[in-house]
Amino acid sequence: MGWTDERVESLKKLWLDGLSASQIAKQLGGVTRNAVIGKVHRLGLSGRAAPSQPARPVFKAPRPPRPAATTQPAQRRVEVVQPQAPTPAPVVYVEEPGSATVLTLGAHMCKWPIGDPSADGFTFCGRRTGPDGPYCGEHARVAYQPQQPRKRSGATDLARSLRRYI
Ligand SMILES: [Zn+2]
Repeated sequence: MGWTDERVESLKKLWLDGLSASQIAKQLGGVTRNAVIGKVHRLGLSGRAAPSQPARPVFKAPRPPRPAATTQPAQRRVEVVQPQAPTPAPVVYVEEPGSATVLTLGAHMCKWPIGDPSADGFTFCGRRTGPDGPYCGEHARVAYQPQQPRKRSGATDLARSLRRYI
């Protein structure tokens, strides 16, 4: 079987596709592997890899997309969290009800009034007084410390005035 133009084109195509001479011979039919090699040489296509070796199956793996080249290194955003000054919780001094009432208050019991003297729950501290006065140590400190600016309430005033008569 001779080399028609059509068969030559097929040969070129298959050769350039990477098929081996023997594979091409099989595809074309009617020619031997050696005939294919000879034709390839005559066509000047032999620049390809050695035709005597079976070509590896051409497997074109799809290339993974290149990661976009970053021209600049990603800026690291470092959030500097300024430590906030802890806001001191407002100290609410809530006194436990005292253990003494007007009726039970004894001579050596702290006379620190607790609560609203006009209310039922009004008590006196009732703890044992310290050496320095009518109050226990804790209340003596409060009583004799410099006056703190604070909102006066009617109850506080009443308690204060009441303290004078005890
Ligand atoms: Zn007290």
